[in-house]
Amino acid sequence: MKILVFSDIHANLTALETVLADAGDMDGYWCLGDLVGYGPDPNQVIKCVRQLPNLVCILGNHDAATIKKIEIEAFNEEAQQTISWTQKTISKENMDFLKSLPAIIETENFTLTHGSPRHPIWEYILDTRTATQNFDYFDNPFCLIGHTHIPVIYFLSDEGSLANLILPNSHTKVTLSPRSILNPGSIGQPRDHDPRAAYAILDTEELLFEFHRVPYDIPSVQKRMEKAGLPQRHAQRLEFGW
Ligand code: ZN
Repeated sequence: MKILVFSDIHANLTALETVLADAGDMDGYWCLGDLVGYGPDPNQVIKCVRQLPNLVCILGNHDAATIKKIEIEAFNEEAQQTISWTQKTISKENMDFLKSLPAIIETENFTLTHGSPRHPIWEYILDTRTATQNFDYFDNPFCLIGHTHIPVIYFLSDEGSLANLILPNSHTKVTLSPRSILNPGSIGQPRDHDPRAAYAILDTEELLFEFHRVPYDIPSVQKRMEKAGLPQRHAQRLEFGW
């Protein structure tokens, strides 16, 4: 099966639609959370994701705050502003969809979560030390995460203790070696100094994981953010991928 693995759309419909078109037909879609927050299109993004065939979808921290499952005070002031705006903006149907999302899912061979297997909603895996510790918190050969908005692979070394990391470029194709923690990067707000939308394609039979980047129309998203009165800093950062 060919699966689109994607995360952190953050209510950016233009980036999401560009990625779906770029990836082409897939057998399934695995979304690692944060459908909303930061961006101007929460209803359109949730609607689009809900309609994807063979969807597996995880709850992110911005989604959890939107449905009041976690405290909004845990976020910085500008992020809080957008979460409050999102709460007022999204339909009941879309709110119910967010409420239905689990924080962690186990499929054959893969554990899917937003932050980390140790702390699914909040923990950022940004270094090898944190990654190494997290290998003790899942049993599958592979764990898929989002949350940091940075595409990366951590894998156990031959000695079995240290996690190494590969920072993939666009179209990097990796044969998965058990055990690994993989992050496809962010569709709607990349933070690795590359403003292009990030996603990955997983071949579950061949165990191949291919990283992709695709440019999208950033000014159109910035215009909608401005119109909605969302924080300027979040609109500007899209240009820089940071
Ligand atoms: Zn996020």
